[in-house]
Amino acid sequence: MSTTIEKPEIEPSDTGQADTGQSATEQLEARQSTTETSDLDESLESNLVDGVDVDALHELVEYIPETKKLSQNAQERQEILAFFSPDRLAWKNLDWIVVTWMVAMHVGAVAAFFFFSWQAVAVAVVLHWLTCSIGICMTYHRCLSHRSLRLKWPAKLVGTFFGVIAGEGGPLRWTATHRVHHGQSDQVGDPHSPLEDAWWSHLWWMMLKHPKRKDDLLFKHYVPDLTKDKMLVFFEKTFPLWLWGTGLTILYFGGWSMFLWAFCFRMVVAYHSTWLVNSATHLWGYRNYETTDESRNLWWVAVAAYGEGWHNNHHAHPRLARAGHKKWELDPTWWAISFLRFIGQAVEVDDRIPEASKS
Ligand SMILES: [Zn+2]
Ligand SMILES: [Zn+2]
Repeated sequence: MSTTIEKPEIEPSDTGQADTGQSATEQLEARQSTTETSDLDESLESNLVDGVDVDALHELVEYIPETKKLSQNAQERQEILAFFSPDRLAWKNLDWIVVTWMVAMHVGAVAAFFFFSWQAVAVAVVLHWLTCSIGICMTYHRCLSHRSLRLKWPAKLVGTFFGVIAGEGGPLRWTATHRVHHGQSDQVGDPHSPLEDAWWSHLWWMMLKHPKRKDDLLFKHYVPDLTKDKMLVFFEKTFPLWLWGTGLTILYFGGWSMFLWAFCFRMVVAYHSTWLVNSATHLWGYRNYETTDESRNLWWVAVAAYGEGWHNNHHAHPRLARAGHKKWELDPTWWAISFLRFIGQAVEVDDRIPEASKS
């Protein structure tokens, strides 16, 4: 069984510029400057859908020839890509819950050093592995996003739960966004390409608001397979409760030292491990394969992110359950998958390695 994600019907240009030679930002600025004197008229004429100015979004993808008649599906896909445009990064588009959360977690991570205990550090290390490797790398990424394996009950429930308490959002939005990344990698519409800006790809892209319309379109076009899964939909709708519940439980039973290390510090380290896969491994490292994107293999990100740093391997062969293809490309998440396969909890594992890489 393979994941069939239809690539949006656009022809991204290398520069992301319009046929007119203007960048999306220039076009938006030009639009704003010509309407300065008629703000009222403009607000009356705005095509607001779920509070989102759809016309403005479409302006961001003006590189599509206007004469080209797009189907409704293609238009919706264009709209999804426009939601991820760095040109939307403005105060009014920030998701203040995410911004506040990120600031609070980072403050907590720094404060942890004033409440040191070895016991708390040990719990943080174990939870880091469970959330980052088992939750995000294995379940969200290799299982849900790429179907490189199928997890049976209860491994799927446990893996999804640890993905949820990694604090990177629900399984549907995470997966859909990642599939957009593979579809548009380092081209217009990529949610987090460092070719736009390294810090954008590392963290700013996440600070944008998620209007309901964006999620609706994203789920419809990128995860139609997962929206039929009641457990995943349940976790998508309730993930903040599980996340906050975990924090409060740790605080209640473990006290402040345990909370700051096992919740805040652990989560911040896992955040940056995951974010480095988006930023650093599209900038630095070596390539085993020629791909159309800038993906790279970077050993220290592979260490920090349990094997996900072999990102060029992954972009060249996203369906494979192993990210490390050479003998020295160690992949701890693959070790966990192998163990779960051994005990019968992981099945339909795509354990192939390209012939040319077997050395
Ligand atoms: Zn990538
Ligand atoms: Zn992937």
